[in-house]
Amino acid sequence: MHSVIQKLADCFGVKLSDRNCGDGYVFDGKSIAIQGLKWIDSEEINSQFIDKMISISLTDHDLLHEIAHYVCADLCQRDLPEYGLGGIPMFNNIYVEEVVDYSEQCIQECMVQLLCVHWGKAYGISPRLTHDPKYTITNSWDQYLMAKLLERHVPNNELCLWTALIRLRERGLLSYLPV
Ligand SMILES: [Zn+2]
Repeated sequence: MHSVIQKLADCFGVKLSDRNCGDGYVFDGKSIAIQGLKWIDSEEINSQFIDKMISISLTDHDLLHEIAHYVCADLCQRDLPEYGLGGIPMFNNIYVEEVVDYSEQCIQECMVQLLCVHWGKAYGISPRLTHDPKYTITNSWDQYLMAKLLERHVPNNELCLWTALIRLRERGLLSYLPV
């Protein structure tokens, strides 16, 4: 784990926990899990025909993204599983109750991505979304920004982007480095 990740978590008062989010949530309302699950192809396990899940550490990007979610969430979201944003977490099928509406979810997700670019570039944190060495889609934060812009298919996308940017500016999050 990049050394700044723990410092950012400490700075904003969110705990990183050595638990696996495959059993529950990435953010369970108290802490961010630092482990996840990954499917291993049957061929990769001594040629035995069984599929298996193994525990893997979340990427630096995953952890940066989660800390940014905590920072961008309203105070009332900070003790709710997955910040009350709803949906299904990436490592399990537990449905998460949605507390904020879809428009607000889109704005917060956009804030998170922009904040990740700001912090990631400044601290030299990897933008790679997986540990797979063959993965090359987001080798730089500029590539990450482009990939995220292209994958956004939300209503009123430009309004969402501008609202996210203005909120980050109003909160001063783009004008300083916290650690
Ligand atoms: Zn997110």
